[in-house]
Amino acid sequence: RSKTIQRGTHTLFSRQMGIEIRERATLMQHLHKAFDAGRLFLMYQPQLDLRSGRLTGLEALIRWRIDNGELMPPNEFIPLAEYSGLIVSLGAWVIRTACFAMRRLQQMGIALDTMAVNVSVVQFRQDDFVNHVRQALEDSGLSPHNLELEMTESVTMEGSRIFEQHLHTLRQMGVNIAIDDFGTGFSSLSYLEKLPVNKLKIDRAFVRQIDTPDGPKIAELIQQLGQKLGLQVIAEGIETRHHWDTLLHMGCEQGQGFFIAHPMPEEALAAWIQAHQSSTKDEKKGTV
Ligand code: C2E
Ligand code: MG
Ligand code: MG
Ligand code: MG
Repeated sequence: RSKTIQRGTHTLFSRQMGIEIRERATLMQHLHKAFDAGRLFLMYQPQLDLRSGRLTGLEALIRWRIDNGELMPPNEFIPLAEYSGLIVSLGAWVIRTACFAMRRLQQMGIALDTMAVNVSVVQFRQDDFVNHVRQALEDSGLSPHNLELEMTESVTMEGSRIFEQHLHTLRQMGVNIAIDDFGTGFSSLSYLEKLPVNKLKIDRAFVRQIDTPDGPKIAELIQQLGQKLGLQVIAEGIETRHHWDTLLHMGCEQGQGFFIAHPMPEEALAAWIQAHQSSTKDEKKGTV
């Protein structure tokens, strides 16, 4: 009798797992096809100097329009791309596309400091990662100083020689490195301190916390840590004027978020930037 129960449980368990694996495999196939068919695209979210309102950069964010016209969130398909290895070619494509877009803006006379691109640790660990970056810069004609790679902290990078070598080479080339979602990962501070990075990104969760009884304490800690380590600090997820003011008050001088602008397609950037520039000029005129 106990055997039957055991067999029963086993069947149920493996059936559930089977469905999950099948669903994942199907999704993976769709993702591969979408990538090959050019159905993935990038949106760009403005980043501002919070003191002056000046536009300093853009963050490139990937989008996948699925067959029914809806967008599949990157948080759902990037892990899959990492798992299947597709992230290597996908990520190289993201870097290239973002470099070319930034270059096109420059050619229109729009000069920004940085194009920020999200990079997975899986990409960072590839032997030819730096070559991909170098090639994208060369082909697009973008200066390495205008490119920023955003990586999230991960235990898997700690002690990885190839990862550290890549970081050093990229910094030597002049490419900027930011740690994304800072404070939500698992690497040790002593390790992070040794990494050649330029910038910390305060995670959205800590900006949201400003509205809670906890207030801005974690955001403040990250700001102070960045300052002590000589790093720039940028906040993501600024949704209100109050978030902006609180961050600026604690010394955080860069930010992005829905209060400023949602991510937008490349075609919408020039008009947004123009409108933004004339509105910040008007504000200045108004205060003089
Ligand atoms: P992330 O790099 O931390 O990007 C910030 C996310 O917050 C984006 O979500 C952005 O649309 C969203 N966001 C920006 N401002 C606000 C705000 O004021 N309020 C709220 N609620 N959300 C805001 P998205 O585009 O869905 O991307 C999610 C994550 O997917 C990214 O988080 C990043 O980790 C990953 N990702 C996106 N594009 C790429 C990519 O090209 N490559 C890799 N490896 N990862 C990517
Ligand atoms: Mg990011
Ligand atoms: Mg982030
Ligand atoms: Mg985030």
